[in-house]
Amino acid sequence: ASLSRIKETEPVVQAFITLDEEGARAQAAELDKQLKEGGERGLLFGLPAGIKDNIVTDGLKTTCASRFLSNYIPIYNATVMDKLRAAQSVTIGKLNMDEFAMGGSNENSAMGPTRNPWDPERVPGGSSGGSAAAVAARQVYFALGSDTGGSIRQPAAYCGVVGLKPTYGRVSRFGLVAFASSLDQIGPITKNVEDAVYVLQAIAGHDPMDSTSADVEVPDYTAALTGDVRGLRIGVPKEYLGEGIAPQVKDAVLAALKVFESLGATWEEVSLPHTEYAVAAYYLLASSEASSNLARFDGVRYGVRAENPDNLIDLYVKSRSQGFGAEVKRRIMLGTYALSSGYYDAYYLKAQKVRTLIKQDFDQVFEKFDVIIGPTAPTTAFKIGEQIHDPLTMYLNDICTIPVNLAGLPAISVPCGLADGLPVGMQIIGKAFDETTVLRAAYAYE
Ligand code: GLN
Repeated sequence: ASLSRIKETEPVVQAFITLDEEGARAQAAELDKQLKEGGERGLLFGLPAGIKDNIVTDGLKTTCASRFLSNYIPIYNATVMDKLRAAQSVTIGKLNMDEFAMGGSNENSAMGPTRNPWDPERVPGGSSGGSAAAVAARQVYFALGSDTGGSIRQPAAYCGVVGLKPTYGRVSRFGLVAFASSLDQIGPITKNVEDAVYVLQAIAGHDPMDSTSADVEVPDYTAALTGDVRGLRIGVPKEYLGEGIAPQVKDAVLAALKVFESLGATWEEVSLPHTEYAVAAYYLLASSEASSNLARFDGVRYGVRAENPDNLIDLYVKSRSQGFGAEVKRRIMLGTYALSSGYYDAYYLKAQKVRTLIKQDFDQVFEKFDVIIGPTAPTTAFKIGEQIHDPLTMYLNDICTIPVNLAGLPAISVPCGLADGLPVGMQIIGKAFDETTVLRAAYAYE
């Protein structure tokens, strides 16, 4: 069913970079065989999954939507892939994204943009745009994305599906091609909250292969599926409903808060005073980490190597010039500049201090509140081509999601109505490692 749905919708949506029909059929046949031999059904038995193309898959091309890796076939699995395999999900293929997860519209993919299933003239969001579009178009049952500054939640919002960024350290990053290692986190994109519960259950947990993965017990997330939010205390940051937020988006979130009231929760306006510095701090820190992480792409060890270099340095320069797209180069230059010795204190160190202040803003609110609610993104999905030549406007789209990554917190985006026929996303943010409360609130609302 998944493969035939893909055949039907893919000419318009273009969510896949690699479709592994043969592999998917083989996995399904193997599961069938195991079941017939009396095996137990795993948690995700037989469910077709799409995987963002920055998560390495043994024997299956992993491009990060970059020319640089257009020929890269990994020889190992990311930990999340082993976990999905253990839960008996079936991998259908690899999904489009902004190159190296840098972007918020999928227009930075070297393979061309994915289109929003609600309106093919519009972007699906990004960087996990292929993942959100594939779920929205019902091509796959669920998808995995990665979120460094909003890349699971924002495309989920634009495509009218559910996207969960777990707490930093909750899900192993082993085998996730690093963009900004202190911010990156893998998470599920699903049709509904219940599915997010099951996929998170399958992929969460400590991994000795990732030194930043947290040794914190994984609870039974089905405990979140109660529908009960009586007494839940919700903080609503005034900074997330102010300037720059489209009126219709604000109205949709306020209407959702009314639903929470009717379910017995309470909400109050709160303040996260350092929000205005979050985008600047993020783009310094994320770009700094990216410039370091992407230094490994030299044309020698991974991916495409430039032809006819004059010498070794020329090989690096040519391979990197030809392999990386414009946005990736912009980030590498920004990051290298911010880290250079004369500027380190003024930019990188300062941004680290701002990061701490942003985290403290959240800590203070969470002394009195169980969750924080606001919009996922300031607007609904914009048109392809509308913002691509204006990186600053593009960066400002992340204002509501970026602070959450800087603080390492879990957050979910759930659909909360339509504006001019396009989906609006509501973001529910929780305390570190308290995905359960986030999921409970999201499930009750849904
Ligand atoms: N849009 C943000 C960026 O371009 C977030 C990307 C992400 O979360 N991977 O950096």
